[in-house]
Amino acid sequence: MRANISVAFSVLVAAGVLSGTANAQGAADEALEIYIIDVEGGGGALFVTPNGESLLVDTGNGGDNAARDSGRIMAAIRDAGLERLDHLIITHYHGDHIGGLAALAEQVQIDHYIDHGENIQQTGSGAQAYEHYLAELAPRARRTIARPGDTIDMTGLNIWVAASAGDIIDTALPGAGQANPYCEGYDPIAPDTSENGQSVGIRMDYGEFTLAHLGDLTWNGEIELACPTNKFGTADIYLANHHAQRRPAAMSNAEPLVYGLQSRVAISTNGIRKGAQVEAMKVLFSAPGVEDIWQLHFSQFSGQEYTVPGAFIANRFEGEMDVPIAPTDYQSPEPSAPPIPPHEGPANWLKIDAWRDGTFTITNTRNGFAKTYHAQPN
Ligand SMILES: [Zn+2]
Repeated sequence: MRANISVAFSVLVAAGVLSGTANAQGAADEALEIYIIDVEGGGGALFVTPNGESLLVDTGNGGDNAARDSGRIMAAIRDAGLERLDHLIITHYHGDHIGGLAALAEQVQIDHYIDHGENIQQTGSGAQAYEHYLAELAPRARRTIARPGDTIDMTGLNIWVAASAGDIIDTALPGAGQANPYCEGYDPIAPDTSENGQSVGIRMDYGEFTLAHLGDLTWNGEIELACPTNKFGTADIYLANHHAQRRPAAMSNAEPLVYGLQSRVAISTNGIRKGAQVEAMKVLFSAPGVEDIWQLHFSQFSGQEYTVPGAFIANRFEGEMDVPIAPTDYQSPEPSAPPIPPHEGPANWLKIDAWRDGTFTITNTRNGFAKTYHAQPN
């Protein structure tokens, strides 16, 4: 919920004081606001409806990075004028998605948790964070275990759970279900026994505007969602799966899914040394209909060859960086360039304002560069 600043504003409008700006402000008030928060290659996306209802997806990293990442998420929460979080989706229990939860929950009230159910990966920092969540946090709030086909209630939005706990919707989401021309030759691979494949994945519609957020979903889930018919449908914005990683360590961003989405924009939630891998960037760049790719960070993985213009990058490394021009080593987490540390302290987010007619604007808060993607006729 948002602090009640609109009441004071209405009073001023009623008094005629601000009538000249009322129309512009009214239009801005209609926007769904989205913050894609830099948590150094983790998950952190905040959605705020025009009436101030909020959904956060994932909480960044834990351990030594918990204060940094929860601080960056809190900065977005404050920027949005929120007093509490109405909903939190924990896509899965890896440390870069649930790690920052305990630190965040100390700073803001979270009313409703949504997750995929039981943790299937019993080791690592994510497993510890999951145990803490189960014992300390979930009992003090509402908890929903999401199943494919479920909807998440938020005023003005349609949110469908397309994937959860390794299961995929078996009937197409509204408007979807067409034969997918990109499926040929793409077969399932060995099952993913990690938490990635358990990710809660959603489609969010705000009027004509659509967005895909599938967490760290991996190959088999992607193929099942997209083939032989595209059960997910299309999405104006694709938050690239698994921080835009593809291979060999992380099998995400299979072409049938990414191409089938026909997205106008793909966003890579990569860190400096995680994600935006060459093989994933190739898929994003070659996806039909993609107009732009935005990155949360410059990436040593995409190098100079497979990155985007700086205007589209929210965070850069301000120092000497050994950047391979055309990286050939895709192994995660050790690209061929010598490591540089992630940056500490505050970071820039990508801000998205989306309108019901399908128009959306993305703003890079580092340099102020903004681009509006006007609604296209159907
Ligand atoms: Zn991740």
